[in-house]
Amino acid sequence: MKKTIIALDGHSSCGKSTTAKKVAKKLGYAFIDTGAMYRAVSLYFHENHVTLTNPKEVEKALTEIHITFQFNEQRGASDVYLNGLNVEEEIRKMYISQMVSEVSAITIVRKAMVAQQQKMAKHRGVVMDGRDIGTKVFPDAEIKVFMTADPTIRAERRQRELLEKGEMIDLDIILENLRKRDIIDSTREEGPLTQAEDAVLMDTSFMTIDEQVDFVIQLHDSVLARI
Ligand code: C5P
Repeated sequence: MKKTIIALDGHSSCGKSTTAKKVAKKLGYAFIDTGAMYRAVSLYFHENHVTLTNPKEVEKALTEIHITFQFNEQRGASDVYLNGLNVEEEIRKMYISQMVSEVSAITIVRKAMVAQQQKMAKHRGVVMDGRDIGTKVFPDAEIKVFMTADPTIRAERRQRELLEKGEMIDLDIILENLRKRDIIDSTREEGPLTQAEDAVLMDTSFMTIDEQVDFVIQLHDSVLARI
């Protein structure tokens, strides 16, 4: 069977990673969560007090960052490692969500991450979720889906996720964070969040995870039958 690249882009917290993980499992593909990479860079910048407005500091820090993924049997997905340390839990915390869009708007950060993502999927057979996968990282991806959902529904889902991990955050704060991230992500100069012309729109507001997975698998199968 021909191996493809499936690009899942879209707004924050509309189920991209959960869908990507399950689609990858069904197809025997690798799943790459590119948001985790930007979150890991943010964590490094935070811990090392990197000034985001100082290009020299940012450039130097990028040479010190090594991001890898390692499969976690329990979770059924890969954990992200920053310089050999498992940071999967830390990068999901609210303080990282509050700085990640500023970090990922820095052009040299994006160039470094995009180059790494292109290398990781050069043999195809990958489901990659992010903001610029179908437009910038793999404009030639065979399957492109642009995901969105009602902001309040997204915030409620995110609040539940955080709560499950022991972080209780007000809905208003989460809603504001999602709104802000979407604006920064959509308006930055390099690799802005935008629907690729050839992407199919999926509004997940009233869809279950299984329906989202079926939607992508059906799209994949119909594209595969044509190529
Ligand atoms: O997907 P997730 O919400 O974890 O991504 C965190 C942040 O990383 C996004 O809000 C965005 O600023 C950034 N990101 C990006 N490009 C990607 C993936 C994520 O700019 N391909």
